[in-house]
Formats: sequence, structure tokens, C-alpha cells
Amino acid sequence: MSDLHWILGKQLIILAGILLLSWLVGLFTGYVTVVMLISLLVFIFWHAFQFIKLFRWLHGSRKGVVPEGSGPWYPISDELYKWRKKSRKNRKNLLSVINEFRTSTEALADAVVVLDNSSNIIWSNQASEELLGISRKKDLSQRITHLLRLPKFIQFLEAGDFSESLIIPSPINPDKTLSIQITPYLQGQKLLVCRDISQLQQLERVRQDFVSNVSHELRTPLTVVSGYLEVLESLTDFSNEQVGKMIAEMSLQSHRMKNIVNELLYLAKMEHGLKTKTDHPLDMPALLSQLKQEAIALSAEKSHHIELAIDCDKGLLASFEDIHKVFSNLVFNAVRYTPEKGKITITWHCNHEGAIFSVTDTGVGISAEDIPRLTERFYRVDRGRARDEGGTGLGLAIVKHTLERYQARLAIKSELDEGSTFSCYFNADWLA
Ligand code: ADP
Repeated sequence: MSDLHWILGKQLIILAGILLLSWLVGLFTGYVTVVMLISLLVFIFWHAFQFIKLFRWLHGSRKGVVPEGSGPWYPISDELYKWRKKSRKNRKNLLSVINEFRTSTEALADAVVVLDNSSNIIWSNQASEELLGISRKKDLSQRITHLLRLPKFIQFLEAGDFSESLIIPSPINPDKTLSIQITPYLQGQKLLVCRDISQLQQLERVRQDFVSNVSHELRTPLTVVSGYLEVLESLTDFSNEQVGKMIAEMSLQSHRMKNIVNELLYLAKMEHGLKTKTDHPLDMPALLSQLKQEAIALSAEKSHHIELAIDCDKGLLASFEDIHKVFSNLVFNAVRYTPEKGKITITWHCNHEGAIFSVTDTGVGISAEDIPRLTERFYRVDRGRARDEGGTGLGLAIVKHTLERYQARLAIKSELDEGSTFSCYFNADWLA
């Protein structure tokens, strides 16, 4: 501000000097007004010339050197010069950041595609050509759904729920399986990252096949062993108490092994593909009453108070065997992990989104850190207790995988020493 005052002050002094000088010259020549007017015009035109020089440069291409101003215009052209130098440096830095970003994303094995708010391609890397068949030059500004036409992908993009990734076959190589993750940012723009998971899937298939083959191979010898043990148990006259105990224990353990093998085989069956809807809905009141009776029988001396609440007249278009397996796993767990005289409530409820089956107990509960791991195979919170209760540690894994085959999901709410609620959410498509 003080600079500005100084510049203005100086200009006023110069103007006063010019006027004084032209007045003196006017007095000397006898044309005071004319000389003063000419001097004033020269002063104004000089300033206008300086202004036009800068204005043209600013409104033009701004290329070349900044025009050098004189007098009061000098600080302005000097500031412009410094600003241009700084902005050139910033632009250079920005370009090098962009180049670095491009080079690093080019080196990525994952495909990266940047989409605008109408899902048109703004930018894509080299890997997107190899995995998705998107050409970086030809397909620029194209709508992604014109290139990836798989209905599953179009639905995924239109639904706008990107909390989970989408698994699809590669559009250019059906042998490859891709996992697509979309991250929205700014206003509607999206970053699509696509990874080739064929090897992971292959490994998973090998693991599943291995488990199911081993279980299959173990089934026959185990049946033979437990069969003979049963015969031995009935033959032994128990004169030797120790032998009797050993045979009883062996028989119990071989039963447990048979259970584990059967559950593993069932789980392997549940790990493949979606189920198709059945023609007729299940009779839910009948199924749930049967479950209640089975729970009462299992509860026996524990004398639980078991309640059934049904406020939905719709039934699931699903196999009785699958749904009974899922629901009974949850109900029997509630019986096993709820102390004597505890309360167990089984509900079947409908809303506009679908139906919910839930089992609430007043049992031992589960701590928050264990909840996310419950559906892992063989994960048990308290190994000793679970084994005593006769569990295999596969029940909730079976529940999760079976529900996935019906596009349903399991939700668990629990608090230690308070109790738990296990809920199965089915969408309306599976109800009638
Ligand atoms: P298991 O055959 O051992 O019961 P599950 O897969 O059915 O195996 O359950 C896994 C673990 O989850 C159990 O070992 C138990 O610790 C816990 N769990 C399951 N249901 C309940 C429940 N209703 N209350 C408390 N803990 C439970």
C-alpha cells in the first residue's frame, strides 16, 4: 500500500512539474492554454500506451517476454514477470507429478480406468488393454458400458453400491477371472481398478477339491472303523473296565470324525454357484414348528424357554434340506451356547425388502473381535467348550455359504454374557 502511495505521489509531482513547465513555456510563447493542453495530452497518451502494451499481452497468448513498463508501470510488469516465472515452475512441477503418476500406473499389472460422471472413459493404462480390451487411444471418451457389456457389470455400475468388488470373466479372455473395484471420487467421477484373480481362483479350486477328495477318501475307512467299534462295544462284556472305556471313547471320536467329514463334504457342495428357485414356497410355519420341537428335544434338562414368532405369510422358494440345515445350525447353536433356563426366540419376519429369519438367545454371547471370524472353517471362540457341546466348528461356515447360494446374508449381533442374535436376510425375489 505504501508503494502505491509513493507511486501515485510521484505521478502527481511529475504531473504538477509538467503543468508548471508548460505554463512557463506558454507564458514565454504566448499560448499558455495550447501548450498546457498538449503537455497534458502527451502525458495521458504515454500512460495509455503503457496500459495498452500490458493489456494486449495479458489478453493475448501471454507468450514471449512480459512487455517492460516504464515509470509507474514498471512495478506492474515486474510483478507479472515474477508471477509468470512462478507459474511456469508450478506447471513444470505439476507435469512431472502427472508424468510420474502415468509412468507408475503404466507399470501396474492391474488395469486402471478413470471415468467421468457419465461413466465415459477419461483415462486408462496399458494393463486395461490386456485385461479389459480398452484401447487407450481409440476408446477415449467412450461409455465404459459400450465396451464392457456384461449385464452383471452394467447392473453393478448402475446400482452404485461399490462396497464390494465384482467378479467377472475377462471380456477378451474367458479363461481369466477379474475382480473389479470401483471407487467414486469428487462429483460422480470413478476410479475403476481391475485385477486378474485367475491364479487365486485356481488355488481356491485346488484347495476345495483337495478338501473334498480327502473327505471323500476318509468316509469309507471311517465308516468301517466306527462300524467295527460299535460291534466291539456290544460284544465286550466289560469285565475289563479300562478296555470298555477305551472302546467307548474310540467310538465317540470316530463318530466325531464322521461328522466332520460329512460336514466338510456338505460345505464343499455349498461352495459352488447359485441355487435356482423352487416351484413352490416352503411351508414356513411347519418348518419352524419342527425346528422348535427339535430345539426342545436338544435342550432336554437345560429347560430353555423357546419361543416362536411368525409375522410373515410368505415362504422361501428354496430347498427344504438347505434351509433346514441353515436354520437348525443357528437354533442348535443357541441351545448349545445358552445356559439352563435361558430364553431363545425364533422369528420369521417380512418387510418391503424381503424376509428375515432370526434366532435370539440369552446365552454366553461373543466378543466383538470374534464376531467377524465366526464363519471361518473350524473357528471356535472357546475350543474346549465347543467340542464338549459336540460342535465341529463348521456350522456357521455352512450357514454362510448356503445363504450365499440364495443371495442371502448372515448378520451377527452379540454381547458377551448378554446373548446373541443371528439373522438371515433373504431378498424379496426368493419369496412367494
Ligand atoms: P460349532 O460347531 O463349534 O458350534 P459353529 O461354526 O456353529 O461351530 O460356531 C462357531 C463358534 O461360534 C462356536 O464354536 C461358538 O464359539 C460360537 N457361537 C456360535 N453360535 C453361538 C451362540 N448362539 N452363542 C455364543 N456363541 C456362539
